[in-house]
Amino acid sequence: MKITRLSVWQHDLPLAEPYWLSGGRLKFEALDSTFLRIDTDDGLSGWGEGCPWGHTYLPAHGPGLRAAIQTLAPALLGQDPRSPDHINRVMDTQLPGHPYAKSPIDIACWDILGQAAGLPLWKLLGGAEATPVTVNSSISTGTPDEMIARIQIAARQGYTVHSAKVGGSDPDIDIARIEAISAALPQGHRVTFDVNRAWTPAMAIEVLNSTKARDWVEQPCETLDQCAHVAARVANPIMLDECMHTVQDHLEAWKRGACEGVKVKPNRVGGLTKARQIRDFGVSVGWQMHIEDVGGSALADTAALHLASATPDENRLASWLCHYHLADDPVPGQGARNAKGFATPPTRPGLGVTPDPDILGTPVAIYE
Ligand code: MG
Repeated sequence: MKITRLSVWQHDLPLAEPYWLSGGRLKFEALDSTFLRIDTDDGLSGWGEGCPWGHTYLPAHGPGLRAAIQTLAPALLGQDPRSPDHINRVMDTQLPGHPYAKSPIDIACWDILGQAAGLPLWKLLGGAEATPVTVNSSISTGTPDEMIARIQIAARQGYTVHSAKVGGSDPDIDIARIEAISAALPQGHRVTFDVNRAWTPAMAIEVLNSTKARDWVEQPCETLDQCAHVAARVANPIMLDECMHTVQDHLEAWKRGACEGVKVKPNRVGGLTKARQIRDFGVSVGWQMHIEDVGGSALADTAALHLASATPDENRLASWLCHYHLADDPVPGQGARNAKGFATPPTRPGLGVTPDPDILGTPVAIYE
């Protein structure tokens, strides 16, 4: 089987409401998403999606993603998409780095591999059955009262795990947010305080040692060095997200005792092939993980949820579904959706999600 064509669509995904994180310094209103279809000489086609969370969240952006696909396409034409590891070696040889741009290509290849094998991706990624995955809400930064109100709305939608976005320049405001949210959390619910790298190490140590909350704290500071410094001086379990790009970063974090868990996001680390390697490393060292994507429609969410579903319960905390925040649905009703706090991956072969061509419109590029 050979790749004969790569077709690329650009599609803006408007958020249903503006979203703030990192203490309110970063605001988001729409996401620039790229949809990719790979066609083959035997008639199978696979889909992928790459959607950085804007261009201020990671060293990644929509135009860069599409430019990288243009660079990679000539080397991919004629390759067998059923060998994702080989496809990744080809991509890494042609263009070192740029993992976010490789993710939709890698996911589309996994979709074709699954269809060719007659198996859903959760089976190929190690799962025994389509295990439902706990989904977590994502609570935008606001005053304590605003954030508690958002948690209460999420609770009515079935969420029992919440990611509350904190992190500002005033330690007293963050201490107040954390104390108020911890105290107001419904019985049996859990929360992670996601700082989105907003704190200096000194501020992280001050805030976390001034609250009684012992919940997970995510990406307190910008770099792995800074987060490792904090992890050694606070009692909260630490989850790392934005500073983790390669398998080597994860090995380094483990050697330094910088975290007890990580976010595993295909669009950040380069697709399902590398996310699976990181997931397997995380299982081997006993980490607890959130496996989800950086952003995107239910297509990107579902690709990540296949991997989450195939991960042992004891190593998986919950998964966030970005599409829940969108005012647009290019894959209407398909894929992994929140049903009373859980999402289950599709059981048909491959990814199990196909975009509506009328919604995507005309491709911005075709390589053949
Ligand atoms: Mg995060």
